[in-house]
Amino acid sequence: MAPDRETPPVGTGGAKTGYTGPAYTPSIPRVTPACKKRITPEQIRDAAQADPVRAYERAGLAGIKRDGAERWQAVCPLHPDKNPSLKVFGDGGFRCFGCAAGGDLLDFYMALRQVDFARACEDLGDLLGLTGTPNTWQPRRPPSTSHARPQTPDPPLIPDTTVQAMHRALLADPARLAWLTERKHIPRWVVREASIGLGVGPCWHGRERFAIPVPTLDGNGWRDVRGYRPKGDPKILPWQKGTGRPTLYPWPWVCAETRLVWCEGEWDALNLIGRGIPAITCTCGVDGALGVELPDLHGKTFVVLGDADAAGDRLGENLPDRLYAAGAVAVSVARWEDVCHERA
Ligand SMILES: [Zn+2]
Repeated sequence: MAPDRETPPVGTGGAKTGYTGPAYTPSIPRVTPACKKRITPEQIRDAAQADPVRAYERAGLAGIKRDGAERWQAVCPLHPDKNPSLKVFGDGGFRCFGCAAGGDLLDFYMALRQVDFARACEDLGDLLGLTGTPNTWQPRRPPSTSHARPQTPDPPLIPDTTVQAMHRALLADPARLAWLTERKHIPRWVVREASIGLGVGPCWHGRERFAIPVPTLDGNGWRDVRGYRPKGDPKILPWQKGTGRPTLYPWPWVCAETRLVWCEGEWDALNLIGRGIPAITCTCGVDGALGVELPDLHGKTFVVLGDADAAGDRLGENLPDRLYAAGAVAVSVARWEDVCHERA
């Protein structure tokens, strides 16, 4: 167990929530190979020709079906398509008879992800396994054409003065502070940066709980304060009615990172951040994670690290597709046993 750091590394600053965000030295397993080879467009075209179906699936085309000898078809993700208008050919090329898009695998990827040629080469090198990256990539489904969501009004933000008062209450309680640092392994600098507190919320049934303030995705205020009580039932409660909807935590703190671990639970995320590993979670468990509205994840790489139980398995099976749909470049799935050898 690494000793808790009492002072954060150099802050990046600028967050409006009070976070001053440490600069990380990520050590996330299985994302970046030790020596990444440079990939040429020819290598990508060769791979697409060698196995067009696999190549287009990896690039993000879902639901590919055979449409004759050396020809396949799929619903086109480049335009709102009801029929399988997009054809993939045995030479590695494609053409959509609905929106007239066409070209090779690189053209397809650039159009799908709205990236330039160099970026497409780099991403496809990873996605096709040409860089030696472990073969854990999964296909991305075409975007949904209906964006209608039921609109519920957001509850008012929680005043920063309330959050800071609870934070001061925790700092004034050495026993509880020690429990957090020694039992939960949350370093003091993380307690401070995340404004962890102690208090009684409107919906905490009059019992004192650890307070985990949840910033809005844009970092402009506090959206919820999760009340945690070690032997409470339930263990965690929202601040008040309406604030308990799932959201990403602590998103503004880590949103500039390109490599992230998605874990289960606020304490796990803070614990990993305390070890220099950028991490996020969804505030309302695995079901929340599989329904939460995701921000733009373009260019980000994820390791999904669920708990070693049935819910964790469900997260690992279902979250990658959602992350890809939100723009993630690559997602791999790990389990605690894979990364935590102390456990055994
Ligand atoms: Zn099309």
